Amino acid sequence: MSKYVIIGGSVGGIGAVEAIREVDPVGELIVVSEEPFPQYSRPMISEYVSREATLETMKYRGDKFWKKNNVQALKGRTAVNINFIKKQVELDGGDTVEFEKLLIATGGRPFVPRIEGGEKDGVFTFTELSTAERMASRLEKSESAVVIGGGLIGVSATEALVKRGMKVTLVELKNKILNLILDETASEIAEKVLREAGVTIITGQTVQQIIGRKDNENAVGRVIMTDGKEISCDLVVVAIGVIPRTELVKGTDVKLNRGILVDRFMRTNVPDVYACGDVAEAYDFLLNGNRLLPLWPLAHLGGRVAGYNMAGKKAEYFGGTIMSALKYFDLPIISVGMMNPEDSGDYEVLIEHHPKKTVYKKIVLDKNVIVGFIFLGDIEKAGIFFQLMKNHVKLGEIKDKLLSEDFGLLTLSPPIRKEMFVVN
Ligand SMILES: Cc1cc2nc3c(=O)[nH]c(=O)nc-3n(C[C@H](O)[C@H](O)[C@H](O)COP(=O)(O)OP(=O)(O)OC[C@H]3O[C@@H](n4cnc5c(N)ncnc54)[C@H](O)[C@@H]3O)c2cc1C
Repeated sequence: MSKYVIIGGSVGGIGAVEAIREVDPVGELIVVSEEPFPQYSRPMISEYVSREATLETMKYRGDKFWKKNNVQALKGRTAVNINFIKKQVELDGGDTVEFEKLLIATGGRPFVPRIEGGEKDGVFTFTELSTAERMASRLEKSESAVVIGGGLIGVSATEALVKRGMKVTLVELKNKILNLILDETASEIAEKVLREAGVTIITGQTVQQIIGRKDNENAVGRVIMTDGKEISCDLVVVAIGVIPRTELVKGTDVKLNRGILVDRFMRTNVPDVYACGDVAEAYDFLLNGNRLLPLWPLAHLGGRVAGYNMAGKKAEYFGGTIMSALKYFDLPIISVGMMNPEDSGDYEVLIEHHPKKTVYKKIVLDKNVIVGFIFLGDIEKAGIFFQLMKNHVKLGEIKDKLLSEDFGLLTLSPPIRKEMFVVN
């Protein structure tokens, strides 16, 4: 029996390996990874497609990571079933591995809606290196693409394709792109930046059918939009969202909501079984409850917390919240927490907008405590705001100076500074 088995060898699984090895250098540790090469940065797929990154520069852990950490890495293998009573994981091919402690770090898979013609050659998703490689190899011979989905993944796919000289149409069903992380003004600024880079943006619609080429019915030739308009294209990228890969625990005793529910120690309700990363619904300090937060740093942190606890060292997850730090077409964006407070609440909103400088800042306060902010164009002081928000620091008089040019750490009184750096 192995002491530890981890399913999924990406950032969550790797965080757990490192934490386990800090506590237990020798306990038998098996990682099952469907991807043959899991230690690459998923957020850098866009840079890989645009050729700004190579496979080498995408690696955030070297090839020797597994050996150095004394891990039996079963790469290119899929876990197909878990028997929680026998404490066994069944692999493709029928063999099994037994565990004392199990971590499920299976991440998410792209959501692909049913679209007529969606099976045609030239339709891609954008969440895995192998798919990105296949897509990138087609770009020399392609001129135009339709990207479905104006969220984070869709916009990063759009940027990569534009950088490769493609003519891109970005299609978003809602009336603004990046609507989950920005407010209306910030979305409009982002849209302007994309349009200036040559992107055509269509909102309030989606693709209802993908049609083949005249000379090859099986290859993408054009799409038909909901209003009947046709757009010719060589590629379609489906980037609508990611759903947790919970298939291994469906129908078992493991408690599921949209993801696997875990406590502050990343434990599921089943003894000795942990979960982390995109597959888990973990603690959100703003919500004061659990939710899906598919974010890279949180997957790593959750993996570390799980790893420590699996190896017997108590560690608590302080939680995360919705947060995005991005740079699209040279426009830096940081958005954290609540960006669009409901009119009904007692929220106070501070805004600074310099359209000519493409700078927009919005801070949302609830009873003198920051509960969300968007910084676009100028993100220099975002770290201070994040700390104030994370530690629920009451701001008092200082609130009126938050957006002044000379605001900085030294503007804050020593007691506030002390409070904002308390580690929870
Ligand atoms: C294009 C793109 C851009 C992104 N940009 C950002 C960003 O800017 N900032 C940010 O914070 N986050 C970003 N993210 C999200 C971030 O990449 C994820 O939050 C993070 O990768 C989650 O890590 P994870 O370890 O939970 O799962 P994943 O990275 O999804 O890895 C899960 C692994 O488990 C494997 N697996 C699944 N099921 C099985 C099984 N049954 N058997 C064996 N192996 C299995 C999968 O093959 C995969 O290798 C981005 C994601 C994408 C796709």
